[in-house]
Amino acid sequence: MIKRLSLYLISILFFVSIVSAAPQTLDIYFIDVEGGAATLIVTPAGESLLIDTGFPGDRDAQRIAHAALEVAGLKQIDHCVITHWHRDHVGGAAPLSKLIPIKHFYDHGLPATIASDMQAENIEAYKLTTQGTSITLKPGDRIPLQGSTRGPASVSARVLAAGGMVLGETNREPQVRPCGENFQPKPEDTSDNANSIGILLVFGGFKFFDGGDLTWNVENRLACPRNLVGSVDVFQVDHHGNDSSNNPVLVQALNPRVAIINSGPRKGAEPGTFATLSKLRAIDSIYQLHRNLRTSDGENTTSAYIANEAEACQGNFIKLSVAADSKSYTVSIPARQISRRYQTRR
Ligand SMILES: [Zn+2]
Repeated sequence: MIKRLSLYLISILFFVSIVSAAPQTLDIYFIDVEGGAATLIVTPAGESLLIDTGFPGDRDAQRIAHAALEVAGLKQIDHCVITHWHRDHVGGAAPLSKLIPIKHFYDHGLPATIASDMQAENIEAYKLTTQGTSITLKPGDRIPLQGSTRGPASVSARVLAAGGMVLGETNREPQVRPCGENFQPKPEDTSDNANSIGILLVFGGFKFFDGGDLTWNVENRLACPRNLVGSVDVFQVDHHGNDSSNNPVLVQALNPRVAIINSGPRKGAEPGTFATLSKLRAIDSIYQLHRNLRTSDGENTTSAYIANEAEACQGNFIKLSVAADSKSYTVSIPARQISRRYQTRR
C-alpha cells in the first residue's frame, strides 16, 4: 500500500515537473474598456505588463482584474504603463490597485499643471496610488522585464515615443517636421495624446506595437526620415482607430499582418483608418473590440472578428497567444469561440 502510494506521489511529481518545465506562450489580452485602453501582456516567465487601465469607476477595473486574476491566473500586475493622462487610460489605475496589487508604475511624467484635456481628480487619484514612486519613461528606455535579454525567444519592451519625443530626440522638437515626399501634416495636436508612450514589444521573432493615442504628426516622425519601429506582426491601432491618428506613413511602415482596434461602440474604428489598414500589403485580419455603430458594415471588419457587436455588451476580450518558439501566434475571441493562427513573419 505504502509502495503504491509512493509510486503515485512520484508520478504526480513527475507530471508537475513536466508541466512546469513546458515552454510557455507570451499572451496579450485586449480587454474591452469600451473605447478606452487596457492591454495586458503576460510573458512566458509569468511576468505581467499592463498598458493603460481604462476609464475611472468600477466597470473597467473589474474587467481588467478579472482578466488578470481569473483568466491569466496572475497574483499581481508587475508593471503598469500609463501612456498619457486622459481618463480612458489613467482612470482605472486607482480602482484597479484596490483589486490587484500593482508593483511598478510608469508614465511620461506627471503634468505640472492640469490642462483642459485632463481631469484633476484622475491625476490626484493616480498620485495617491503611486505615492511618488512612478517612473518617468523616455524614448529608448526599456521596461525591466525578467530575463528580457536571455534565451532564443527573449522578451523586451522598448519605449519608442514618450512626452512628445521619438527615439533619438532628447528635447521636444517642433511637433510638425516636414519629411517625406507626400508630407501632409495635420494642425498641431496640443492635447496629451501627442505625448503618449509608444512601446515596441519583441518576443523572439514576434513584434507588437502599442502606440497609445499617438497622433498624426508624431506618428510621421516615428516613420520618417527613418522607420524607427520597423515592420511588426501585430499593431494595436493607435488612438482607438481614430482618423486624427493612424497616419498612413506610419501604418504602412509598420505594415502589420494583424491589426487590433480597441474601439468602443461609438468611439474609434473610423472609416479613414479602416481604409488605411485594409489597403496594407501585409494585412490579413483586422479585429475590433466593438462594432462601430456609427458606420456601415463595409466600414467595419467581418462580424466574426468583432468581439462585441452590440452597445449593451458582455465586455468580451480578444486574446493573442504567441507560441513559445515565437514562430506562430493565435488570435482568439473566446466568448465567440473564434480562433485563428498566423505565422510570424521572420
Ligand atoms: Zn484614448
